[in-house]
Amino acid sequence: MPQPAKRSRIAIGDTTITYLPDGFGAHNPDVLFPGVDWTTRPGRLQDGQLLLSFGSFLICAGDQRVLVDLAVGKIDVDVPGVAHLEGGALLQNLADEGLSAEDIDTVVYTHLHLDHVGWTSDVAPLPNGSATGSPTGLTFARARHLMSQDEWQYWSTRAAAMGGPDAEAVLKPLDGVVEFVKSGDTIAPGVTVEATPGHTPGHLAIVVRDPSGTRTESAYIVGDIL
Ligand SMILES: [Zn+2]
Repeated sequence: MPQPAKRSRIAIGDTTITYLPDGFGAHNPDVLFPGVDWTTRPGRLQDGQLLLSFGSFLICAGDQRVLVDLAVGKIDVDVPGVAHLEGGALLQNLADEGLSAEDIDTVVYTHLHLDHVGWTSDVAPLPNGSATGSPTGLTFARARHLMSQDEWQYWSTRAAAMGGPDAEAVLKPLDGVVEFVKSGDTIAPGVTVEATPGHTPGHLAIVVRDPSGTRTESAYIVGDIL
């Protein structure tokens, strides 16, 4: 049976990339992939639902700690007919790595869909675009918060769009804080961003290489391209 992805790590030279789980979504497969005959794909569904994992990638490069995307946040919610979403494990998984929110130098967003921004502030965004309560600050208060300017502009003009970032929980706390990066920019030793628009207008991929050049392989964190 499918299970949510577990914490795991790869290394490129001295740089490590660690997947930090936050939660999962049990989705109605007919909404995500209309017309698919699931009987020809045995073992892909769990109790008739398609399981998607939500999490962040922690990159430790030199003395820099970068979080790629902020998962879904502390939620446990039904979207009738569409999905059941649960999250909230990210900070515990970070703590299990010996790190706290204060240890994060940089947050970089591949894009601003709901399941990539959940820990932006101390209020979790909900799928219907109505966060409960007012945030008092950013979760990773010491970190730079990076994204593409196209992504920021796209969502800033679409208040409470389904699947997008909540205005109160995400956009307002980032306003005046967010820094824009463009394709080819280096955000940590050996770590660059690459414009990959399509899934959303300002989608970025994060490329990780060995800053010493000793290892020739690279890793691409591709967000929701695939
Ligand atoms: Zn997405």
